[in-house]
Amino acid sequence: MTYAAPRMAPIKPSPSAMASRRARELVAAGRDVISLSLGDPDFPTPDNVIAAAIRAMERGETKYTDPDGTPRLKAAVREKFRRENGLDFTLDQIVVSAGAKQVIFYAMLATVAPGDEVIIPAPYWVSYPDMAMIADGVPVRVTCPQNNGFRLRPEDLDAAITPRTRWLLLNSPNNPSGAGYTAADLEALAEVLRRHPRVLLLSDDIYEHIVYDDFRFATMVGVAPDLADRVLTVNGVSKTYSMTGWRIGFGAGPRDLVRTMVALQSQGASNPCSISQAAALEALSGPQDVVAERRAILERRRDLVADRLDRCPGLSCHRPQGAFYVYPSCAGVISRRTPDGTVIGTDQDFALYLLDAADVAVVPGSAYGLSPHIRVDFSGAPERLEEACERIDRACRALA
Ligand code: PLP
Repeated sequence: MTYAAPRMAPIKPSPSAMASRRARELVAAGRDVISLSLGDPDFPTPDNVIAAAIRAMERGETKYTDPDGTPRLKAAVREKFRRENGLDFTLDQIVVSAGAKQVIFYAMLATVAPGDEVIIPAPYWVSYPDMAMIADGVPVRVTCPQNNGFRLRPEDLDAAITPRTRWLLLNSPNNPSGAGYTAADLEALAEVLRRHPRVLLLSDDIYEHIVYDDFRFATMVGVAPDLADRVLTVNGVSKTYSMTGWRIGFGAGPRDLVRTMVALQSQGASNPCSISQAAALEALSGPQDVVAERRAILERRRDLVADRLDRCPGLSCHRPQGAFYVYPSCAGVISRRTPDGTVIGTDQDFALYLLDAADVAVVPGSAYGLSPHIRVDFSGAPERLEEACERIDRACRALA
């Protein structure tokens, strides 16, 4: 018996979730595996946010809400965009969903016609191609190698656009590379988009507040307001406020686009969780100190991991401008032999070797469309990060 519809054929479960699950299984079986595969810092959700959720439940905010989110949360989202990005949206330009992930998914379903192309700079967040394909679109992957700072160059964008192009999905700071686009980088891409008026841009800003050194976050509508009628700006509370499990994200963009996405949400989910919406309202409008504190902690963890991995023989690790991943090249271990004589042919082989021989779980670059690399999440506890780096180093040194 086959259950899956034909459109499900190319769809696979998220590789990072699979890698984390495998690591959890090994831990349950008694192995001391360190998982650097998920992308979920060890910080708790702030106390004021949890208290707001409890109060909301006690007040009876446990019923259906408006399908696009509660008016109070949407007003807080509007204020966030004004305060942090200098952007002005009306409430009917904003939709709140169960995570940025669902916002992006609805955007694809709402706009992509069969055969429409979705440009995805690689390396990319694993879900983008699958979302485009579920919407009957065609992902067009554009390689952005390490020597271009993992960033999409205007000439590469120009070359990728065809009459079928519907979207460019841009994510800065980027998962998995940590690359950030400056205002000047975005302006150069805007220049290309101006020549192609049918192309929409999705600006995935979920790591906006997780930026390092002197990198200044910028978003497309702020840089190129003339493109506002074809940009969907996506953000959420998951990463900024350590609220990944609460599932609240939001999108802001052209009224007609948002209206279609809300119609979809009203049929598919009715509304995002009422209690999580109350929690997100507090996160966005309450004290913000936690954001800078956690950013500073993550910056120290980035320094620790990037420097240490760069010294491992066979790896070459850059310093990301944001997010909480490094994406070192592992070109130097390809074709080498493990102690049991297996030849490492791909980054997938290398990730497997690290799991089997070093008890460290990382995700191979093949999952993100750019090989040979591994993605290492550095958002965990520093002692474990140090131990994991030591293990990776020993595993690299054991190769012949
Ligand atoms: N976009 C990117 C680039 C991400 O890495 C993630 C989560 O890992 C998301 C979106 C989804 O975030 P949310 O938890 O808000 O659905």
